[in-house]
Amino acid sequence: MTKYPHLLAPLDLGFVTLKNRVLMGSMHTGLEETKDWNRVAEFYATRARGGVALMVTGGMAPNKEGGVFPGAAGLFTDQDIANHRIVTDRVHEADGKIAMQILHAGRYAYGPDCVSASAVKSPISPFPPKEIDEDGIEKQISDFVTAATRAKEAGYDGVEVMGSEGYFINQFLVLHTNKRTDRWGGDYENRMRLPVEIVRRIRKAVGPDFIIIYRLSMIDLIPNGSSFEEVIQLAKAVEAAGATIINTGIGWHEARIPTIATSVPRRAFSWVTKKLMGHVNIPVITSNRINTPDVAEEVLADGCADMVSMARPFLADPNFVAKAVANRAETIAPCIACNQACLDHTFGGKLSSCLVNPRACFETELVVAPASEAKTIAVVGAGPAGLSTALTAAERGHKVTIFDRSDRLGGQLNLAKQVPGKEEFHGLVDWFETAVADAEIELRLNETATVDALQSFDEVVIATGVVPRDPEIEGQDLPQVLSYIDVLRGADVGKKVVVIGAGGIGFDVSEFLVTGDSPTVNLPEWLREWGVTDPSDQRGGLAPEGPQPDAPIRDVTLLQRKAEKPGRRLGKTTGWIHRATLQMKGVTMKGGVNYERITPEGIWVSTGEARENPTLIPCDNVVLCAGQVSERSLADALEAEGIPCHVIGGADVAAELDAKRAIDQGTRLAATL
Ligand code: NAP
Ligand code: SF4
Repeated sequence: MTKYPHLLAPLDLGFVTLKNRVLMGSMHTGLEETKDWNRVAEFYATRARGGVALMVTGGMAPNKEGGVFPGAAGLFTDQDIANHRIVTDRVHEADGKIAMQILHAGRYAYGPDCVSASAVKSPISPFPPKEIDEDGIEKQISDFVTAATRAKEAGYDGVEVMGSEGYFINQFLVLHTNKRTDRWGGDYENRMRLPVEIVRRIRKAVGPDFIIIYRLSMIDLIPNGSSFEEVIQLAKAVEAAGATIINTGIGWHEARIPTIATSVPRRAFSWVTKKLMGHVNIPVITSNRINTPDVAEEVLADGCADMVSMARPFLADPNFVAKAVANRAETIAPCIACNQACLDHTFGGKLSSCLVNPRACFETELVVAPASEAKTIAVVGAGPAGLSTALTAAERGHKVTIFDRSDRLGGQLNLAKQVPGKEEFHGLVDWFETAVADAEIELRLNETATVDALQSFDEVVIATGVVPRDPEIEGQDLPQVLSYIDVLRGADVGKKVVVIGAGGIGFDVSEFLVTGDSPTVNLPEWLREWGVTDPSDQRGGLAPEGPQPDAPIRDVTLLQRKAEKPGRRLGKTTGWIHRATLQMKGVTMKGGVNYERITPEGIWVSTGEARENPTLIPCDNVVLCAGQVSERSLADALEAEGIPCHVIGGADVAAELDAKRAIDQGTRLAATL
C-alpha cells in the first residue's frame, strides 16, 4: 500500500497518460552548452529511469535576441535537431517523457539586442531593451512556433512555453513593463494577446497529440503586477487556445522576495496555485519548495494542484520517484534548497551540479563503478567530507569504518541545522544516517582515532575538518567572549551582541541571535515578514504595508576588517536574502574596522591603517566567527609514522570550506580508491 496515492496516480491527458503526478521542472544546467550530447542525454535518461513522469528541459531560446545570454542554446539548425534527438531517444528508451522549454528572455536577455514590449530597463540587467514593433512581435511569435515544431521533429513529447518569472511574455502582461498603446498593450485583453497567440499558433502547428505546458505567473511579486482576476482570465484563454497543462510560476526574477531559497517555507506558494483550481479544466501544476514525497502528497491531497513540479530535488536524487514508489522516502537524498551548486553555478557561468549529489550533471564523468578489489578503508571524521567518502567507497564494495570523536554523524552540519532558515539541514543529516546504516558501514563514534587504530587499514582518509581560527584579539579570553560553536550549541547570550567576522557563519550566527521562532516553519509569519499577500487583494501579491518582520530579539552588530560591504561574498543567488534579513532585523553591519581590544564593557574598534577613531561598542557578549583553520594533527602524526593517508575537506583546505566542496572531494576520492 503506497503512502503516496495522489502523487503516484497516473494522469490521463487524453492522447497520452503520465505515469504519475511528478514533473521535473525546467533547470538551466548549462549541459546543452557543453555540446556533449551524450552527457546531456545521460542526465535526462538517468532521471527518466528514476521514474519521473515528465521532464522539462532547460530553457531553449526561440531566436538569438531571446536567448538568456549570447550563444544560449536553441533548435536553430538541422544539426541541433539531430543533437536533441539523441536526448529524446535516450529518454524514451528509459520509458520517460520530455518536453522542451521555450524561453524568450525579453529584457532579461543579457545582451544589447534584447527586446521587450516597451523600452523599460530591468533593474537586474545593464541592457535597456528595444521596444519591438508589430512586425517584430509577429516574428517573435513565429519563432516560438518554429521552436515548437522543431522540438516535435527532435522527438520531444511536448513543449513548455515559459510565460512567467518576468521573461518576455510576462513583460507584455503587466503595465509595469508594457506601456504600449497598440493592440498588444493597454487593456488586459490586449496585453495577454501575445501568450494566447503563441499557444494558439503552436497548437495549430503541432497538431492535437503534443503536450503544450503553459507556465503562468500566478503571483508576480512586483509592484503593479497581475491581479488574480487577470491570472484566471489568462489561464482560461490559454486553455481555450490549446494548452494541455498549466504550470505555476512564482515571482519575477527581479522580485525582492525569496521564492526558492532554503529559508522559504516548504510548499510556500501552493495556496496560490490552489486559487486557480476549478477555473480551468486542464491539469494545473504547482511548484516551489516541494522537496519530499510527503510534502508533494500533502499538496495534492489538499487539492492545491493536479501535479507537482520539482526541479532541484532531481539534481539531489534522480531516483526520487522510484524511492517513493518503494516507500523508502527516507533514502532520498534531500535537496536543501541551498542553490550553492545549481543556481549559483548557473549565474557564475559554471555547469550546474548539486551540493548533495556531485554526480548531478557529471553522470558520464564521475562514475562510481564496483572496485576491482575490496579494501578496508578507515574514514576519520563524520562530517560531510568523511560521510561522502564512506558512502561512495561502500557503494563500490569496500569495507568501510568511520571514526568520530563525537556521538553523532554530521559534523558541522549539526551546527548549521540550528540556524533559523536552515531547517533543511536536519533532513540532510537524517539522510546521511539512513544511508550509512543501509550501507552497513561500521561506526566507531565517541572514539578518537589513533595512529595505532588506523595501521591495519588498506586506506586511511582523514576528514577531521576544521577548528575555529584564533583571531588574537586582546581580551578574547574574557568570559563574555564566545565562539560560534558555543552559541549554536545553546550558550546563554545577552541582549546586546557584537559578532566578529561577517562570512557565512557570521551571518548565520547573527540570524540565529536576532530571530525568535523561525518564520521558515511558520508560513503566515514568513509571508508577513516578506510582505506577501493574496494576489486577489493586491496586484502582484505585494502587501501595501511592505515587509513586517518580528522585532529582533537581540541588538546585534556584525563586524569585519575588509573595507567592503559585509556579505558581498555570500552565495550569488542567496547572499541578498541574508543581507536583507539582517537589515530587516536592524543588525548594524560594518566593514573596515580594526579590533583593538575586548573589555568587560564591550569591544574597542578603530578604522583605517592608522587605527583612527577608537570607539567602544558596548555589548554583553562578543561572538567569534573569524573563520577556520584545518585540523590536521592526526594527518601529521600518520605522516610522521610513514603511514600514507588521504586528507580531504576542511582538514585539507580550510579557506572557504563548505559542504559543497567537502562532499564533492569525498565522493571523487572514493570513486578512485
Ligand atoms: P569565512 O566565510 O571565511 O569568513 C570568515 C570571516 O572572518 C570573514 O568575515 C573575515 O573577514 C573574518 N576573519 C578572518 N580572519 C580573521 C582574523 N584573524 N580576525 C578576525 N576576523 C577574521 O568563514 P566562515 O564564516 O567561518 O564560513 C566558513 C565557510 O562556510 C565559508 O566557506 C562559507 O562560505 C561557508 N558558509 C556559508 C554560508 C552561507 O552562504 N550562508 C553559511 C555558513 C557557512 P575579515 O578578514 O574581513 O575580518
Ligand atoms: Fe538543492 Fe543545493 Fe543541490 Fe541545488 S545544490 S539541487 S539547492 S541541494
